[in-house]
Amino acid sequence: MRILTQNIDGLHQRAGSTPRKVLELHGSMREVVCTGCHLRSPTAATLERVAAGEEDPRCTTCGGILKLAVVLFGEHLDPATVAQAEKIAQACQLILAVGSSLRVEPAASLCAVAVNTGARLVIINRDPTPYDDLAVAVVREPIGTALPRITAALAEARTANRPAASR
Ligand SMILES: [Zn+2]
Repeated sequence: MRILTQNIDGLHQRAGSTPRKVLELHGSMREVVCTGCHLRSPTAATLERVAAGEEDPRCTTCGGILKLAVVLFGEHLDPATVAQAEKIAQACQLILAVGSSLRVEPAASLCAVAVNTGARLVIINRDPTPYDDLAVAVVREPIGTALPRITAALAEARTANRPAASR
């Protein structure tokens, strides 16, 4: 299983998802990137420099300006990250679109990429999305109530399908 996320807060990893299986389409605020040489480093280290008295910490390698390693409004996504996301979407058999309006591109069109290569799309979102017609199932419910219900039902089905001897 892979997680393609528009979140930048690292909460998927903190919740226990394997970091290498999480692809952050809009970057991560846990890192800063140099606008000069593109070197990445942990945000925490830069914040420590601020706490120690540096007003405007610069890149330690080239002196360039540091910014959070996130895609800001109006900026383009990293082409390599988008290409990787498309590859994952093309290879999957099932894609769950969870808690997204599916109105922000190119993330939203990953649903179409997956469906066009044979995957089944399931959408879980409170409001209608432009991709509802492509989905084999739409759960129109807030994810805070839908996901606990779905995971509980899956756990129950798994228990019911287990051979009696191993129960
Ligand atoms: Zn630099």
